[in-house]
Amino acid sequence: MSTIAFLNIAMHGHINPTLPVVSELVRRGHSVTYHAGHAYAEEIAATGARVLDYRGDDVPMAGPPTPVTLMEQLARIAVRVLPAVLAELREARPDLIVHDSLCPWGPVAARELDVPAASSFTTFAFNRHVPSPTRGSWRLLAAAAVLPRHAGGYLKSRWQLRRRYDTGAVPLIDLANIRQPLNLVYTSRALHPEAGSFDQSYCFVGPSVGARPPDSSFPADRLRDPVLYVSMGTVFGVGPRLLRTLADALAPLGGTVVVSTGQTDPAALGPLPANVLAQRFVPQPDVLARATLFITHGGVNSVNEAMYAGVPMLVVPQGADQTLVATRITELGAGLSIRTEEVGVEVVRALARRLLDEPRFRAAANTLREAQRQAGGYRRAADELERYVRQSGRPTRPGPTEEPAQG
Ligand code: UDP
Repeated sequence: MSTIAFLNIAMHGHINPTLPVVSELVRRGHSVTYHAGHAYAEEIAATGARVLDYRGDDVPMAGPPTPVTLMEQLARIAVRVLPAVLAELREARPDLIVHDSLCPWGPVAARELDVPAASSFTTFAFNRHVPSPTRGSWRLLAAAAVLPRHAGGYLKSRWQLRRRYDTGAVPLIDLANIRQPLNLVYTSRALHPEAGSFDQSYCFVGPSVGARPPDSSFPADRLRDPVLYVSMGTVFGVGPRLLRTLADALAPLGGTVVVSTGQTDPAALGPLPANVLAQRFVPQPDVLARATLFITHGGVNSVNEAMYAGVPMLVVPQGADQTLVATRITELGAGLSIRTEEVGVEVVRALARRLLDEPRFRAAANTLREAQRQAGGYRRAADELERYVRQSGRPTRPGPTEEPAQG
């Protein structure tokens, strides 16, 4: 049995895929601690992990992030939380640290405690062929020049980190791309762009979708087929107008149109057609299991979950790596994409009709569904973590599935 410490940022998309992995590790007899912030304590506790907090800090991630604001925020949070994180982990004495690929306090803690670390990529993984949003580039430099306060804040926090800790495992610039000798990527090789260009340290384990705690706020009994689903994710506040347009576009095509409004108050959408169900948050994997069409911002988790369910998509990218995701989905034939400026009731309805009526979209989505399921998901992730701990000479006991798997 090992003790495994998870360290994460406070974003649904970065936490969700880790939860089934944690449940599986706990089920296999490992002891798991998890740092992510108050807001997630309940769902993390439900996995059987011991929730450790950032000592009162909820590690807020003000969105929507741009590369420069994100880097500044991450470096600043690292300075703030590391004293408490290190104190708690010194007590917990983990054999392995698993941190998000955007979580700079993870590699610092691993070095300070001399513990092996694995990185958890809930975005796509990045390299020369798949550029990270925070890679050093003229574009990033230009963005920093127009945000001098954030750029200066980043440099200041980076300097503080370097003065206090061993930051040798933290990239100087590319904070959205923190790698380790083991990198778990929660998508399949088939869905990931340029998967063949990543070395053996990258394990494409596929979507990590497990049972979530039941959500009694969602009236599942009201759903009528065909179920059409709209979500622009939890980070990018797209506002009521866009959501309302999407709802109006889909209403005549659907039995029920489910709209997850995220940061927007559902009431701000105004009186909706009778078959539209709008809520801030819905049990997405359950809704996707019923849906025949998904309009999404192209967050990697949402796309992964949709492809796990074989649901064709209309992608409306809002930022981050979502344009890359939209391109990949259209390339694979599992959906279409449209820019926010082009969104209107008629144009979206026409695209939705094509996605519903042309069988090639569903066929491509079904092919990806197979690949997503065969990648192994949370069980494969747990296998890889156990193997890694064992290779590092730390204590563990074999998990139930011990077939060596290829990245
Ligand atoms: N999600 C959910 N219900 C909602 C909206 C989102 O369960 O109503 C979950 C979704 O299943 C996914 C995550 O929140 O796991 C969103 O992650 P993604 O990377 O797609 O987008 P982000 O919110 O980070 O932009």
